[in-house]
Amino acid sequence: MVAAPSALAITDQKTPADVAAALGKVIRPPVIWLHFQDCTGCTETLLRPSHPGLDDLILNLISLEYHETLMAGSGTLAEQALAEAVQRYSNQYICVVEGSIPTGGHGAYMKLAGRPAMDVLLEVGGKASTIVAIGSCASWGGVPSADPNPTGAVGVEDILPRARIVNLPGCPPNPYTLLGVVLQAASNGTLPELDQQRRPKFAYDRHIHEHCPRRAHFDAGHFVKQFGDQGHRQGWCLYEMGCKGPDTHAGCATRHFNEIPDVWPIGIGAPCIGCTEKHVAFRMPQFQVVPLHTEVAPPSAYPPIIEPQGKVSPIAAGLVGLAAGALAGASYVASRKFSTVPDDESVPGPGPSASAGPANGGSGTGPEERP
Ligand code: SF4
Repeated sequence: MVAAPSALAITDQKTPADVAAALGKVIRPPVIWLHFQDCTGCTETLLRPSHPGLDDLILNLISLEYHETLMAGSGTLAEQALAEAVQRYSNQYICVVEGSIPTGGHGAYMKLAGRPAMDVLLEVGGKASTIVAIGSCASWGGVPSADPNPTGAVGVEDILPRARIVNLPGCPPNPYTLLGVVLQAASNGTLPELDQQRRPKFAYDRHIHEHCPRRAHFDAGHFVKQFGDQGHRQGWCLYEMGCKGPDTHAGCATRHFNEIPDVWPIGIGAPCIGCTEKHVAFRMPQFQVVPLHTEVAPPSAYPPIIEPQGKVSPIAAGLVGLAAGALAGASYVASRKFSTVPDDESVPGPGPSASAGPANGGSGTGPEERP
């Protein structure tokens, strides 16, 4: 398991002043947040955490220079604020990108202040110290890139392949993953360890299936066959309903959403759609089952829950009875020895005081004196 970034512990335990004192550095790093082809769900997820809350985050921890949804300004004033921030904090700010970038039609599918989205990303992203591509759309195209991808939607790394990019795919991703990455980059200039798809390993190094609370049902062969059936009501495994958890790297099973236990897709009875995986989400049909990798499939050596029953001969039954009787007798003797309470009513037969003296009396046979 890869360690979480230093900032995650800070957000849970310390105030912004503690963070500043501990790090000895100026906090409130400038952050510029760009929106492209998105549903604003990733911004919505940013509003949910409480450690820190949104107010603490944007008033004390970071300096949010530009965010179309959260900023008060609009139109020319907003665009001026963006240009000034890019100039003033060139190569110092963190650029968060939400949404995919349309490349079709020479940029005609999306313009910001009259400029194609691609050009805005090239300029603003190109002068950032770090780019955080939040959500599946910014990471690799997401929903807008589903076939036939009419706008030519791509992710940030297709436009700026050499930039310092962290991908946080998810629809939406967990906000604490974003906070951990941004605050670590801001506080000491480092990034958490990334995988080959530039995802932080602390949040994406395991399959959902590995920590899924329904995993015991998967191993036992208890599968939901239809929404609303008895298995669904009892929380059985959703694999046969197309759950992509065995092929999806994400931490959803261990860190739920909106800080409410069980609030995540599988927790509320919906199969995982694999939204963090480029080859799964919005490409595989919803009810198609994913192939099982060896590390997540139940080994064939697992014993079945119900053993096939055969006939038992009278002799074998007698031997088993004999062994069971011996075992019961040994258990009884052991229970007498391990009771340290004089006249313990819960232990059948005469209490330990009657045969073994006081439990702590030195001359008795209390547990501390047993070999
Ligand atoms: Fe959980 Fe899906 Fe794996 Fe079943 S298949 S155990 S529901 S992740």
